[in-house]
Amino acid sequence: TYSALVAREKGDGVVLAAEERNVSELPSGELTIAVHYSSVNYKDALAVTPRGGVVREYPIIPGIDLAGEVVASDHSGFTPGDLVLAHGYDIGVSRDGGYAELTRVPADWAVKLTDMSPREAATIGTAGFTAALSVAALLDNGVTPDSGPVLVTGATGGVGSVGVDLLAGLGFDVVASTGKSNAHGLLRELGAARVIGRLPEDPDAKPRPLGRSEWAAAVDCVGGATLAHVLSTMRYDGVVAASGLTGGPGLNTTVLPFILRGVRLLGIDSVQLGIERRRDMWVRLQTDLRPKHLELITNEVAARDVSDVLGTIIKGRVTGRTVVQIQGG
Ligand code: NAP
Repeated sequence: TYSALVAREKGDGVVLAAEERNVSELPSGELTIAVHYSSVNYKDALAVTPRGGVVREYPIIPGIDLAGEVVASDHSGFTPGDLVLAHGYDIGVSRDGGYAELTRVPADWAVKLTDMSPREAATIGTAGFTAALSVAALLDNGVTPDSGPVLVTGATGGVGSVGVDLLAGLGFDVVASTGKSNAHGLLRELGAARVIGRLPEDPDAKPRPLGRSEWAAAVDCVGGATLAHVLSTMRYDGVVAASGLTGGPGLNTTVLPFILRGVRLLGIDSVQLGIERRRDMWVRLQTDLRPKHLELITNEVAARDVSDVLGTIIKGRVTGRTVVQIQGG
């Protein structure tokens, strides 16, 4: 048997509790993995939220990130002892995820870790990976440190904090936008040149189609009124990488930023991204796009504490990345 945190519907709610599972209940896949670490993402909180829009069928073992050691392989590309990470696709949303001591995944969903521990990989996790995709998209679209200030919204969250770290490490002039007044010091340590409050400054003000040109680029994981404000304050030729919706899924904007300032809005998706591009990005996360200050943003918790963290992250109150020790490591 193996221990796992299982989410089950109970009345109107969803309850997450430790259970012993039989090996015969493992999901399908060529690789059997001893999970050393998983993590807590915003999406994991949605997975245990009734009508969260992420999980259709319970019971499920949540955890959209998993990292550990291959213990059995039916695929020639992997051997027992390989350190691997898997995330995205159906993991933790429509098949069992990382909050389990043991799991199985298809080999073509797995990423080998060559120069990174499972703990570091899970700390980066889906949120940090999405930050890296966002930064790479800006670079691919010609943004350079000479272009001007780069805004990061939701800056203390998982996507945001890794985004600040990566951009600062590449020499960008990073402006971090956060609702947490006690986290300005941390954001400066990560490399932000300037820290500002959440945007728009006045959430009740009528949105303006075009505002003062401020940002050469932006990494936005907030969406909603924040993304609308960001679009209207981009400089000419500005580029925005949009990945999230902690501020809401709506986007009330006009075409003016696009047709008068040539602003480009890039959509970032980490879930369906093909395995080759996923593996390539993990190579970069272990080399030229390696976060420099991961320890500053890492909170490690035991599996029994996951429920509490899930309750906090949905309220936007978590800072950095929470890594969950599952076994060994
Ligand atoms: P997270 O750690 O909770 O970070 C989100 C941050 O957003 C919070 O820390 C907070 O930062 C800010 N925030 C929260 N509520 C807000 C509100 N009402 N208005 C404005 N800002 C608010 O979550 P995460 O795991 O980094 O994920 C962030 C978002 O990206 C989520 O929507 C997630 O679903 C999405 N995401 C998408 C992909 C993809 O593939 N597209 C992948 C990963 C994540 P401050 O307190 O510093 O302002």
